Amino acid sequence: MKSQDIRSQFLSFFEDKKHSIVPSAPMVLKDDPTLMFVNSGMAPFKEYFLGNAVPKNSRITDTQKCLRVSGKHNDLEEVGYDTYHHTLFEMLGNWSFGDYFKKEAIAWAWELLVDVYGIDKDILYVTVFEGSDDDNLPMDTEAYDLWKQFISEDRILKGNKKDNFWEMGDQGPCGPCSEIHVDIRSAEEKAKISGKDLVNQDHPQVVEIWNLVFMQYNRKANGSLESLPDKHIDTGMGFERLCMVLQGVQSNYDTDVFTPIIREIETITDKKYGKEEKIDVAIRVIADHVRAVAFSIADGQLPSNTGAGYVIRRILRRAVRYGFTFLDKKEPFIYRLVDVLSEKMGRAFPEMKAQKQLVENVIKEEEQSFLRTLDQGLVLLNRIVEETKGDTVSGEKAFELYDTYGFPIDLTALILSEKGLKLDEKGFNEELQKQKKRSRAASEMSRDDWTVLVDDAEEEFVGYDSLEANVKITRYRKV
Ligand code: ATP
Ligand code: MG
Ligand code: MG
Ligand code: MG
Repeated sequence: MKSQDIRSQFLSFFEDKKHSIVPSAPMVLKDDPTLMFVNSGMAPFKEYFLGNAVPKNSRITDTQKCLRVSGKHNDLEEVGYDTYHHTLFEMLGNWSFGDYFKKEAIAWAWELLVDVYGIDKDILYVTVFEGSDDDNLPMDTEAYDLWKQFISEDRILKGNKKDNFWEMGDQGPCGPCSEIHVDIRSAEEKAKISGKDLVNQDHPQVVEIWNLVFMQYNRKANGSLESLPDKHIDTGMGFERLCMVLQGVQSNYDTDVFTPIIREIETITDKKYGKEEKIDVAIRVIADHVRAVAFSIADGQLPSNTGAGYVIRRILRRAVRYGFTFLDKKEPFIYRLVDVLSEKMGRAFPEMKAQKQLVENVIKEEEQSFLRTLDQGLVLLNRIVEETKGDTVSGEKAFELYDTYGFPIDLTALILSEKGLKLDEKGFNEELQKQKKRSRAASEMSRDDWTVLVDDAEEEFVGYDSLEANVKITRYRKV
């Protein structure tokens, strides 16, 4: 099944259950200072959960662009090294705002996965919240009893607060959750293991795909929980992971969400994916990062020197560095991937088609400017190496490379290690802390980096809408 069909089948399943389909909100919510990027499907609906706004329909379904590169949910270091954490990913969701609760959410999730998508129920596991003394919360026996109707009890695992109590950030709506995991290990591999290891959730091929959050509480600034006025359902399923399961592959990068991008990288760089781990990591990182950067720009968040814009710039530089070091690409090429991205995703996300030219121009410009400093930085780095007496380069020197030439610290460390030198990371971090203090003041102005882009496709652009109250969904279009 093609990824496009997987996405639309999810949405129409919930539409049939009386949900309204809404488009993804932009990844930066202009007026939510608690969150740098939307990191889950629920973020744009926060005001509904808090009872500060009332939605037109108490049931909603969507696919939300999420970015997990900062704050409480930061997966950046995983990306490229594992096969199922991305910076940008789509989160498919169904929502009940004070309408249905656990019973329907669990039954429908099961119906969709097993009856509609046809996933073998014998590869599914679910988890429920075991309770927490910290917050004086009991085990979620209600969810446990509901799951028992569908799945044998040895496949219902109890999980702690870390895994089974969902919180968007340090504050805000939250609640116990049930996760659905899929074991995609081959039969031969499973035959080799038994007992506890069979339900080992840390195995890279036992992957969480869907989280059903039972939203009942609000975490206040002082850390305490208060009950929400109504109970809500917030679910989030990783679209790329679902595609991996339904397309019968072992990695998100082997789904049709990523393969067209990877093929294009292979063509441009004349390297092959699947032959050498270092090159594979670099290709995965670039295929992932281009999506994060491109969608961010299409949403109006341009790379810059502060706040969210700086995070985007760093992600792009990280990608450029991988291309430069491992794929031997010394000239801009990441911008050339935008074409295939817009081709493959433009239907579901028209903003990518509409802003394609701008996205390409901005990425090309950014690549060019970093490649310029990358070269100059290398000249300086060589000089530093020549002048270094011992075996360690000072944190200050590394910081100069980072600060003046935009050199990521890991690139500096890598090049130094190739030359048999070490890096004083502690000294570097001290310099970084000093700089962070300086930029914290500046980040207050980061909202200036936001540029509102007007959609070309007028018939699909309904305008900026504050809904009944202050919910920041600024675009409306047909999905
Ligand atoms: P994981 O434990 O794998 O890091 P999570 O528990 O942090 O996932 P949730 O916050 O529950 O994830 O998000 C809901 C769903 O979104 C997950 O079940 C998963 O399918 C998907 N998801 C989460 N993080 C990522 C990511 N970085 N890349 C791709 N999909 C993700
Ligand atoms: Mg996670
Ligand atoms: Mg998890
Ligand atoms: Mg989870």
